[in-house]
Amino acid sequence: MSDKKIIIAIDGYSSSGKSTMARALAAKIGYRYIDSGAMYRAVTLYALNNGIIDSQGNIDLPALVSALPSIRIDFKPMPDGTQHTLLNGEDVETEIRQLRVSDNVSPVAAVKEVRTALTDMQRSLGSDKGIVMDGRDIGTTVFPQAELKIFVNASAEMRARRRFLEMSNKGDIVNYEEVLANVVRRDHIDETRAESPLRRADDAIDLDNSQMTIDEQDGWLEEQFHRALNR
Ligand code: C5P
Repeated sequence: MSDKKIIIAIDGYSSSGKSTMARALAAKIGYRYIDSGAMYRAVTLYALNNGIIDSQGNIDLPALVSALPSIRIDFKPMPDGTQHTLLNGEDVETEIRQLRVSDNVSPVAAVKEVRTALTDMQRSLGSDKGIVMDGRDIGTTVFPQAELKIFVNASAEMRARRRFLEMSNKGDIVNYEEVLANVVRRDHIDETRAESPLRRADDAIDLDNSQMTIDEQDGWLEEQFHRALNR
């Protein structure tokens, strides 16, 4: 393989399986994987834990904006090849995946100052290329120059079913209807926000993985990677 390294942007709807495929590709080709959604989730957890979001979901905007410089997010590689999100040094991987965070993350991610701060962090993580990043605006805003852009979609019901199974398998007590409502609500907020809405980049390659197995999806993505590398 040549030394050429590229940037791979994988965007799409929540629970579309983009993180699973992005992580698998990065491991296979020896690139760094960054889950940008985990960064928005970590900021949301900080806001929840510090009284910046009240029990009704109202955000104290001035407090959120002034807290941003005190929020440090890192990723810690784990022995099993996954990575955990650290919020100011503390491992918050489990907490950021809970419904309490999922229910509040999209309004936090719609705040311009939050997006600017996280976009800056994401760009610096990709400054040496050799990175696979997944999210909502990676191909449109964070790395518009990415050599490979994928836009993943699947029906809301299919995505909610996957998320429900994932959470139940982890032992979380969840209700399918609640998970579906969260998926639909997040889609809506992500698509209609003013700042970097979820949108397919014009030069992205579409993937609807509703009918694909994980192996098929991984194989398809690897083929796209080799094509992009040789372009
Ligand atoms: O990818 P995940 O579902 O964990 O992301 C959580 C939330 O973070 C999304 O629903 C979206 O509101 C926000 N997000 C974003 N831009 C990104 C990644 C995530 O706005 N690049």
